[in-house]
Amino acid sequence: MDQIIGHYISGRCITETQHSGPVFNPSTGEEIARCAYADATTIDLAVKAATSPNAKKWAKASHAARLQVLFKMRELMVSRTAELAEIIGREHGKTIPDAIGEIGRAIEGIEFACNAPHVTKGEYAHNVAGDIDVFSIRVPVGVVGCITPFNFPIMIPAVMMSMAVSVGNSIVWKPSEKVPSAALFFANLWKEAGLPDDVFNIVQGDKVAVDAILEHPGIAAISFVGSTQIGEYVYQKGTSYNKRVASFTGGKNHMVVMPDADLEAAANAFVSAGFGSASQRCMAVSLLIPVGAETANKLRELIIEKTKALKLGAYNDPQADFGAVISAQSKQSVLKAIDQCVADGAELILDGRDYEHPEYKNGYYIGPTLFDHLKTDMDFYKQEVFGPARGILRVNTLDEAIEVTNSHEFGNGSVIFTRDGKSSHRFFMEVESGMVGVNVPVPLPVSYFNFGGLRRSKFGESHLYGPDAARFYTKLKTISQKWPAPEENDQTISLAFKIT
Ligand code: NAD
Repeated sequence: MDQIIGHYISGRCITETQHSGPVFNPSTGEEIARCAYADATTIDLAVKAATSPNAKKWAKASHAARLQVLFKMRELMVSRTAELAEIIGREHGKTIPDAIGEIGRAIEGIEFACNAPHVTKGEYAHNVAGDIDVFSIRVPVGVVGCITPFNFPIMIPAVMMSMAVSVGNSIVWKPSEKVPSAALFFANLWKEAGLPDDVFNIVQGDKVAVDAILEHPGIAAISFVGSTQIGEYVYQKGTSYNKRVASFTGGKNHMVVMPDADLEAAANAFVSAGFGSASQRCMAVSLLIPVGAETANKLRELIIEKTKALKLGAYNDPQADFGAVISAQSKQSVLKAIDQCVADGAELILDGRDYEHPEYKNGYYIGPTLFDHLKTDMDFYKQEVFGPARGILRVNTLDEAIEVTNSHEFGNGSVIFTRDGKSSHRFFMEVESGMVGVNVPVPLPVSYFNFGGLRRSKFGESHLYGPDAARFYTKLKTISQKWPAPEENDQTISLAFKIT
């Protein structure tokens, strides 16, 4: 009997389940466990825990008391990094250094969540009229339903949930069923850090679990990160149940390189941000947009040489630059996108379709693949390809580069490489992307800035990270109060609607 990776409710792991699905090690292609899949009854159990008196006590706890737990959690994440990186790598396929990098960003998110008292403190106006003072406060929304993707098993959940917990909410979290183990490890760390049972609950599963979360009246807010198709569905369904929803979705990030740029630095940035984590990052650079034929030709040669030097390997191979993609289906869909692009007439200059790992022939590996002469009407240009296949789309001017970037369905991140301040200024002012980089490979902001894309890379106005996250996870109340001495009480009735 395979090991069952279960739910975590009221501080206890539950492995009994009617339904389950396989969990694979992408580096080898082996099934390593089964993941329990929650139904509506399990979701209800988790919501009951999250609304229990124990969870309500957390909502009423002082900031100081909550912060003690967050400080401890941060220390535990630091001291248990190596164990957690191994768990992430085994189910995700990313290399250990990449997993350690992800945990570092998770820790940064927890550190920022310790600022909750500062970012949620309200406003105050004294004596607005007749000795009345007005002030605003932010209170927890209640239960937050979190639905997360496979590609960052810890960073996204930690950044999202540490703020939600820090402001006093309780959590019902559905991790990706492809990477369920890191979630349980994370839950155990919260327990060790002193978070009361019932505040942090995990329900493993698939669409059935997501639908039950979206429909449950006890859940007030939904944080979703994942693909655009599912994110749009979650946003529409969640808001139709009158929930507050923030949904962060796919991207196709453009990297524009001007003729005056440091081409060596630009090529390095493209290779590292393009192929890192087997290109399975929402902020991965997907497309190179060189301005002018000479820039394109020089960059193409540099990138071919640097990409050929990359080494694929298992997550725990210390020599590996990147690993397998997440699943056999994902490998198939990336290969299909490459075949289609060849058929559509782009020039295939690096072909990784036949790559086979010498030891792990069943691992989900795809060698680095690169196209030149992409066109904007090709599917490969339009779709998010979540695997190591990247493309070059040539343009003649910065105007054209900005127009191409802005015409894409997605507006997550975009980058310019240039030595000219005027080009840089024009680019970041005119480009319609939520996160913009100048001479940096990945414009992923630090956690004290808001993170999020534009257009169909995000549904809903709020943010899940940064100061806006604290606002998303709290409700605003505005209080008008007066404390007259008994002899100052107003003895008259006035039906006029006026401020005095
Ligand atoms: P996904 O949409 O397949 O899954 C995300 C979550 O939705 C998972 O928990 C999954 O179990 C659930 N889900 C899957 N199918 C569902 C369905 N039919 N109905 C309801 N729920 C369903 O995404 P993924 O493959 O896990 O992650 C990769 C995607 O996430 C990419 O598109 C990537 O760009 C995106 N992403 C975006 C950001 C961002 O901040 N914008 C960050 C990371 C990843």
